[in-house]
Amino acid sequence: MLIDIDLRSVMMVSVLLGILFSIGLLAARSYHDGRIRSSMTIWALGMLLQPAAWGLIVLRGQIPDYLSIVAGNTLSVFTFVLFAHALRCMHKSLTWPRLVYALGVVVFVGLSMEVLFIHKPYWRMISLSLVIALLLFQVGRETLSGPWRVQQAGVQLTAAVFFLGAGIMAFRVIYESLFASDVHEAFDLTAMQSVVYFYAALGPVIASFGYVLICNEETLAELRRTAATDPLTGLFNRRPFEQMGEKLIADSARKRRPLALLIIDVDHFKQFNDSYGHALGDAVLQRLADVLQGQLRGADLIGRMGGEEFAALLPDTGLEPAKQVAERLREAVDALEVSSVGVVVRIQISIGLAMLDVNAAHSDEPAELLVGLMREADLAMYAAKRAGRNRVEVAL
Ligand code: GH3
Ligand code: MG
Ligand code: MG
Repeated sequence: MLIDIDLRSVMMVSVLLGILFSIGLLAARSYHDGRIRSSMTIWALGMLLQPAAWGLIVLRGQIPDYLSIVAGNTLSVFTFVLFAHALRCMHKSLTWPRLVYALGVVVFVGLSMEVLFIHKPYWRMISLSLVIALLLFQVGRETLSGPWRVQQAGVQLTAAVFFLGAGIMAFRVIYESLFASDVHEAFDLTAMQSVVYFYAALGPVIASFGYVLICNEETLAELRRTAATDPLTGLFNRRPFEQMGEKLIADSARKRRPLALLIIDVDHFKQFNDSYGHALGDAVLQRLADVLQGQLRGADLIGRMGGEEFAALLPDTGLEPAKQVAERLREAVDALEVSSVGVVVRIQISIGLAMLDVNAAHSDEPAELLVGLMREADLAMYAAKRAGRNRVEVAL
């Protein structure tokens, strides 16, 4: 049945789709930047290798084998190598999928050796299929190992295409070893050959649909991250701080675990801006944010509430440990020297500390609890200001 389908037409359609896809990707990349943009470029280049590869493979017999077999198959395989690179680029822009590249090079070297010196087409076909099976399997693993959710439709579709390819190539190795002892002409279509060619023609196009979905998800995730963080300090803004804070509070209330809130405000901050300009004020805020974050645990939540005011939620922290943390923050900042715009300045902070009342907490909404806690810590912070600044005060 498969043999009746005109394979050359399928290839033509898939090549045209591939070219259109590449153009689409290359055009769309101008709306992106950074890692997503680089990734789209690499994927599009991978896709563009396909027409070149098929062009060479189709001309088998009319051009030297070195071009048709070696260059054609290598280009076709490097489509998948570049796909793996594009996926890697999406999350770790500085590392290469070395194993995939190594397998791509093995394909090239192996094909060259066979065509130039060994002349054993049957063994070429078996070993080539084996290496490509490994390569596609590795590209599939690469797809699943990104920082994205594996449940995403795009990730699943793309990975499925690669694992299916790995399966087809592995099956081909077994099938041809058992049932064939000689290689066929390239377009002498046995059922097995047809399956392989159909996969090679359609696999990259289908994987590209999945890839576009991955790009979409990643762009959304990046937008969400950008919206959630303050560009000056990299800390969470007030709203995401409150959203995550409410979850921490709900957790603590349910488990009846202690939780502390610190409100941190820079003393006499206005004078830095007034005396040395806004740029110094900004540098102070950046260093301060780094120091505060460096002093807290991974489980703690810190955010910039606005201006020169920060808040930190410390889960699983009782009154005495929370006081110690606050004191440690105050000392670390007191010891800090910030040099910028040709001056060196020192800053101090006042901290208000409030504790969640775990016994009363479970009856209230987390949002209300957070508002109440913020108010208490704020009052304590102002008490610290009145008491002379550069100190920690606990809410009554
Ligand atoms: P206090 O010890 O009572 O807290 O005095 P203060 O000067 O720190 O308090 P005040 O609230 O009067 O001043 C806060 C200043 O913070 C006002 C504003 O100019 C400055 N500020 C707010 N956001 C930024 C920012 O993003 N960058 C810079 N450079 N300054 C900022
Ligand atoms: Mg202040
Ligand atoms: Mg303030």
